[in-house]
Amino acid sequence: MSDIYARQLEAVRAHSLDRHLREVRSSHGTVVEIDGKQLINFASNDYLGLANDPRLREAATKAIAEFGVGAGASRLISGTHSSHVRLETALAKWKGTEVALSFGSGYAAAVGAIPALVGKNDIILLDKLCHASLIDGARLSAATLRIFPHNHLGKLKSLLEWGCRKNSTARILIITESVFSMDGDRAPLREIVELKKNFRAQLLLDEAHAIGVIGPNGRGLVAEENFSPEVDVQMGTLSKALGVSGGYMRNIDILAEELPVRPVSAIVPWIIGDEQATLAAARSLQDEGFFVPAIRYPTVAKGSARLRVTVSAAHEEAELRSLGAAIKRIAKKKLR
Ligand SMILES: *Cc1c(COP(=O)(O)O)cnc(C)c1O
Repeated sequence: MSDIYARQLEAVRAHSLDRHLREVRSSHGTVVEIDGKQLINFASNDYLGLANDPRLREAATKAIAEFGVGAGASRLISGTHSSHVRLETALAKWKGTEVALSFGSGYAAAVGAIPALVGKNDIILLDKLCHASLIDGARLSAATLRIFPHNHLGKLKSLLEWGCRKNSTARILIITESVFSMDGDRAPLREIVELKKNFRAQLLLDEAHAIGVIGPNGRGLVAEENFSPEVDVQMGTLSKALGVSGGYMRNIDILAEELPVRPVSAIVPWIIGDEQATLAAARSLQDEGFFVPAIRYPTVAKGSARLRVTVSAAHEEAELRSLGAAIKRIAKKKLR
């Protein structure tokens, strides 16, 4: 490898910011096999344990038998199949929206939708902790981008005032998330809706970590707070709680049938701060049989490295308790 990259890699390693792929040798579930060892999996966004659900496996297999594995062309050319139309009709009905548009992934939804909503004469106000896909979508749109501190309503308001002064004909799009992916906290939706109405701004809300977890039948934060008409665009992904990549309708049917729990979110961060200490804690947990990822810069800010524990409805209570005990032991050791 050329010297410039070798040096760069060395620097990344020196700061404990190097990343490695880990081969999982089993199907996805609450227990996975990594490096020949069975680990209890607290690293997944499969919050409802649907990724391996027999009903979804069967629906996916049936769809492949009927439609094959490729659409042949982009959707505008010849790739819109009746399965896509059915999915979108079902999503719109389930979410209570006028229409729904599906993309190949949540990332594609963000980079597809945001540039369609605003252009170079417009303004985007984006929460500092928004997912990379929203930042990329915002950049691609060529709109003027301003970041507000996480959930900071005062700063958001002053940016709205600034935007209206700067250009009274510009569209202003506020972008935020229902549940933030690395902290597990929520956006103050009621207050943001109030602000967007006062300033005639638009609101795009990413429900990626709320779908399947909060709201009636897991329909997300918009449904929980009853703001469907006020939120202009609701984004989401089928690849977290809904357990698939791409889309099959069966998972929505399943959510409509069952979802008794009402958690705040399924994401519990243990913020340690130091990158090396966080890696060491993740390794200690792995030695004790738990798979909990160490999240570091640039996914989160420098010096706010953390272990990100995600819980699933498929976990046994005993698994949660043993993880809690292991974290306590490791935290005590660290303090000594
Ligand atoms: C995961 C995620 C996405 C992207 O979804 P994919 O289907 O994985 O591409 C978008 N927004 C947020 C907040 C996410 O966590």
